[in-house]
Amino acid sequence: MERQNGFEQGPIRPPSEASSLLLRVNRNCPWNRCTFCSIYKKSKFSIRSVENVIHDIDSVYKFITRLQDPGTTPAALQRGLSPGEEPAFYAAYSWLQGGMESIFLQDADSLVIRPEDLLKILCHIRSRFPGVKRITSYARSDSVARIDDGMLKEIAAAGLNRIHIGMETASDTVLQLVRKGVTKETHIAAGLKVKAAGIELSEYFLIGLGGTEFSQLHALESADALNRINPDFIRFRTLHLPDKITLFPDSETRYQWAPDLVLAYEILTLIEHLHGITSRMTSDHSYNLFQEIDGTMPQDQERLAGVLRKFIAMDCEQQVLFQVGKRAGYFLRLGDMVAPGRMAQVREICRQSDITPANADERIHEIVQDRMRRGMPF
Ligand code: SF4
Repeated sequence: MERQNGFEQGPIRPPSEASSLLLRVNRNCPWNRCTFCSIYKKSKFSIRSVENVIHDIDSVYKFITRLQDPGTTPAALQRGLSPGEEPAFYAAYSWLQGGMESIFLQDADSLVIRPEDLLKILCHIRSRFPGVKRITSYARSDSVARIDDGMLKEIAAAGLNRIHIGMETASDTVLQLVRKGVTKETHIAAGLKVKAAGIELSEYFLIGLGGTEFSQLHALESADALNRINPDFIRFRTLHLPDKITLFPDSETRYQWAPDLVLAYEILTLIEHLHGITSRMTSDHSYNLFQEIDGTMPQDQERLAGVLRKFIAMDCEQQVLFQVGKRAGYFLRLGDMVAPGRMAQVREICRQSDITPANADERIHEIVQDRMRRGMPF
């Protein structure tokens, strides 16, 4: 049996799970071959034993019970902790502060473990925390597609009520180039399976994954898959890749990063080709240029497309000011450009950084690359 190494949490969660308790079911990613993803590259995949996951749940339960005791204080509890107890204590404390409404199962693909084991973990969560409203997880389409329909319904009944799938793209060409390890049909089959089980589904679209050459194909194929799945959420992420990474290693085709204007057309194509779906579309990551994309299909489709059309119709200088101002934190949305003070500050940044309409894409790319090297946000 796997040794108990104490309470564990993995490195990432979706932004929408900021208040969730993070419970590590397995470590790292069972696939770990996508060329654009470096999160788990130096880490080996392993499955934690059910006993150890249950031990983590019980540790959090123990501290939640103590924290809710009116006869004690967090500071008093903290003073009595042994070093090994600290991670579970802090996880319990911040979860309690966040309202204890949701739990996120880590790491990259909790659906890859034996379904019977996942059921045991979910049942234990329910017995310890019956008030939890949401239990969610990342999953690979490939893992979901392998699970029997009836079993997935049992998993849903046991409490797993939202799955986040990194679709990234549904273009088979791009999927193959970036070694995603799934096909468009697998993405669709997995998405439909999740929905049929009564589990909420978030699908992630990775802006820029096809580079300049496959940008439109990436958008069109993804729109087609999303139309067939009708996920509850479509979430945008933007590809930011260090130049040293070879995105298409198995091909003669060289990945050519796409400028913001190409990406704006990419998102517009995706939105314009969505039909017959009721998904909520959200650009819920600060690295996205168009963070104001947030609405529900079909009623908000024209408004969301309008954001891209407005950017595309702007003159070059205005586009550059938005590109720079958004990344520098002066603008969140296009409408913020009416503030004269902020505009003046962004113009000054452009002047100091020597950014002009003629060199903007290259300069912004260089700055983003430099910030990535230094581990800074952009
Ligand atoms: S499946 Fe997800 S976590 Fe794993 S390598 Fe690909 S993008 Fe990264």
